[in-house]
Amino acid sequence: MINLLGNIKRVRNRLENAASKCKRSSKDITLLAVSKTRSAQMIRQAVEYGIHSFGENYLQEALQKISELQSLSLDWHFIGPIQSNKTRQIAENFSWVHSIDRVKIACRLDNQRPANMQKLNVCLQVNIDNEISKSGFKMDEVESAVKEIIDLPNLQLRGFMAIPRYQDNFDAQREPLAKLRKLIDKVNDSLDNSNKLDTLSMGMSSDLEAAVFEQATIVRVGSDIFGNREPN
Ligand SMILES: *Cc1c(COP(=O)(O)O)cnc(C)c1O
Repeated sequence: MINLLGNIKRVRNRLENAASKCKRSSKDITLLAVSKTRSAQMIRQAVEYGIHSFGENYLQEALQKISELQSLSLDWHFIGPIQSNKTRQIAENFSWVHSIDRVKIACRLDNQRPANMQKLNVCLQVNIDNEISKSGFKMDEVESAVKEIIDLPNLQLRGFMAIPRYQDNFDAQREPLAKLRKLIDKVNDSLDNSNKLDTLSMGMSSDLEAAVFEQATIVRVGSDIFGNREPN
């Protein structure tokens, strides 16, 4: 048995401490609980302990939980790889997508977002370590992708997301995250005031402190909240 309440308190304390060390308010940082592979029942518990935003990677699994938990009006974030044939259901069921890795995917989500829903909040996934195995825009592709996506009427481009390579110490963790922070500052310099990007989705269980120091606004925490995942 895991102690869900204890885990959530511990993660909130870590966020609080990191934020105060770098003179930020933890209110400006959303704790996104990554609930892939976890049951609807487990999510329900987390909601009782004050979590409202959940991140999911696998569409079919997510749709089931979204429907089961409909009455709770939660914020569902899609954070996994996106295949073209899955965009419609993503557009119809989520309020955020963090993992846009091609302009074409953004265009499909824009076309398929139902007119009666609010704009879909999206982040571009950036491959900050330039890893061949990882999806996401390369650093030098981001500015032109922003230009193509920012005016799509049914999307709200909010910022960038990254999954850096694993590092075990604070300074090494900060380095790639700092690249994403500098990138958003640079892109924002070229955007009108009404279009500024306000979201850096970075930081997971092992590097959330480093992410807070580098101005993360959403941290995505799975195992330190729900316990270790079964390898799948
Ligand atoms: C699984 C996952 C997380 C959570 O990782 P933990 O190390 O369990 O906190 C965060 N972001 C993405 C994109 C993930 O797939």
